[in-house]
Amino acid sequence: MYIKINGKFYTKDKAKVSVLDRGFLYGDGVFETMRVYNGHVFALNEHLARLRNSAKTILLKIIKTDEEIKNELIKTLKKNKLKNAILRISFSRGRGWGLNLKGELKPSMVILCRAFHPYPEEFYKKGVDVIISKKVVSYSGSVLNRVKSTNYIPNILAKNEADDTGAFDALTVDEKGYILEGSVSNFFIVKKGVLITAPLKTGILPGITREIVLKLAKMSGIKIEEKKFKPELIYKADEAFLTNTSIEVLPVKIVNGKIINKGRMGGVTLKLLNKFRDAVKE
Ligand code: PLP
Repeated sequence: MYIKINGKFYTKDKAKVSVLDRGFLYGDGVFETMRVYNGHVFALNEHLARLRNSAKTILLKIIKTDEEIKNELIKTLKKNKLKNAILRISFSRGRGWGLNLKGELKPSMVILCRAFHPYPEEFYKKGVDVIISKKVVSYSGSVLNRVKSTNYIPNILAKNEADDTGAFDALTVDEKGYILEGSVSNFFIVKKGVLITAPLKTGILPGITREIVLKLAKMSGIKIEEKKFKPELIYKADEAFLTNTSIEVLPVKIVNGKIINKGRMGGVTLKLLNKFRDAVKE
């Protein structure tokens, strides 16, 4: 694996950043994870736009242009000789001890690239099992809402909670108990043919896959409601699924031990999964 750090390639063992790097000291940075299908980085412009948005919120200046970043990503992909891959780019605020942002902070850029290993097709045929986190509550007023920062502790704890119960993932809630998202995914339900998902104003990450799925649903004439909902609505749903860059559209069969729609794979989920898989080929 070749890793690019501030424009230079290093092998995995030689790739190192300073212990004074603020990403290490404070989780002070932003990142994006992208999927490469047959040599093409999917939704690259959307990922770069979200990266800039995240950076702007945390007051981190990215001096590189989108074209420069794209070049670096493609070079990393080529150096690793991969066609189906996951690319991860992160910008940390550079070296600095102390929270003060004044002075010469030089953000550093790291690009990782690895082969993409698909999830078992069985997950897509049968659906996965998720829990609702009891530990992780995301506050609707948090300054970090909608930011893909390198501080992923709540997400790590939620995922760990799921792992401890043998579930695929855990959904997080806000302080009023409204469902937000998965640890690294967005969450949807379908009730009487209507596609329902939490609105962005709840502070969820504006998932690129979420946006594309909403667009595909709209184009297919599926009614959409972006609205807040509580677990009770999930238990009455006909279908449920998760979305993200790696899993695409992943059916959910069980939520908190309750089987959705008698465990049957839903038609809307299947339609959107197929449409998404068609879209990535374009
Ligand atoms: N929500 C969270 C908290 C995430 O970390 C992610 C992806 O990492 C998503 C949603 C889904 O985003 P995307 O579809 O852009 O991968």
